[in-house]
Amino acid sequence: ETETPFHFLTAEEISDKIPVRKKFSHKGTYGHALLIAGSYGKVGAALLASKACLRSGVGLLTAHIPHSAYQIIQTAVPEAMCSIDASDLMFTEFSDLQQFSAVGAGPGLGVKPNTRKALLRLLEASPAKLVLDADALNILAMHPEWLPLLPENSILTPHPKEFERLVGPSGDSYSGLQSQLAFSQKYKVIVVLKGAHTRITSPDGRVFFNTTGNPGMATAGSGDVLTGIVLGLLAQDFEPLDAARVAVYAHGLAGDLATVQCDELSLIASDIIENLGEAFF
Ligand code: AMP
Ligand code: MG
Repeated sequence: ETETPFHFLTAEEISDKIPVRKKFSHKGTYGHALLIAGSYGKVGAALLASKACLRSGVGLLTAHIPHSAYQIIQTAVPEAMCSIDASDLMFTEFSDLQQFSAVGAGPGLGVKPNTRKALLRLLEASPAKLVLDADALNILAMHPEWLPLLPENSILTPHPKEFERLVGPSGDSYSGLQSQLAFSQKYKVIVVLKGAHTRITSPDGRVFFNTTGNPGMATAGSGDVLTGIVLGLLAQDFEPLDAARVAVYAHGLAGDLATVQCDELSLIASDIIENLGEAFF
């Protein structure tokens, strides 16, 4: 049996995985996500990821944010609950993870020493479903000795620069793909290398290439939106590989739908969120 490990993400495959909302369900049915994001000056990352998470069907979302972000988040995303850090400026502590069905961390966190320590404690708490992005990945690149702490099937969503810090050169070459796959297999994690054709590697050796998206999405906050979507799906009990595949496809499709109303040049990350509803349809 010689099945290729290489796959494209296609509409048929993805739409099959989007569950129909059950009539007698309630918000408890759809999970409770914890998003750890934002720091002073980068609250927008927490805001975008929160909105995207809520637009991805999660039942409840708690955003863990520094104290100074509280009023901003409560006003801009009233649907989210807040867990407020002791620090005014950044992520330094968290409490119980038990009530959460999935955890996402990274957008806009910064890499200050206290935030690094708090991330280590998060890894030690070993959340069952975890997505790490942005500064969470930059911190891991500074502390590669923490990589073995990653829970199995965690999802990592680096852009090429973050990937390079963490794994090594990504390039457009076959060797970049091989090192991504080797990393996935060594640490048993799902790696989503973002770009024009985002590629996902799974610990089982499979590789998936996305077919949606456009260069209008090369814009601030675009990746934070993806993190929110992945988190929302994980919290709803998607298998991690399915959460990664559906999120990447839907994120790109929402970006494509956004270009119906505006030129790629004008696209901003909020437009991706606005079009998620149609992308999931
Ligand atoms: P980040 O750099 O973390 O904001 O992530 C950027 C997001 O935009 C990722 O989801 C990328 O896949 C997407 N993106 C960036 N550039 C392009 C492009 N040229 N074509 C399609 N998607 C892109
Ligand atoms: Mg990013």
